[in-house]
Amino acid sequence: MSSRRSALDAHVEYCPACERDTEHRVAISLLAARRANPGSREPHRVAVCRDCGAETSTRVSQL
Ligand SMILES: [Zn+2]
Repeated sequence: MSSRRSALDAHVEYCPACERDTEHRVAISLLAARRANPGSREPHRVAVCRDCGAETSTRVSQL
């Protein structure tokens, strides 16, 4: 039995890998920012495509 989360968890945005709009799981990650750029303390918004698993991280300058 798969635990399906509420629709509130789903975020639809464009996935470059799928070349279409897909559902993504979105999180704000400070760790991703450190990994990508150790000098940076800016959080990154990480979106993971539910279809192909591609991860897109965007720097968030202000929360
Ligand atoms: Zn995708």
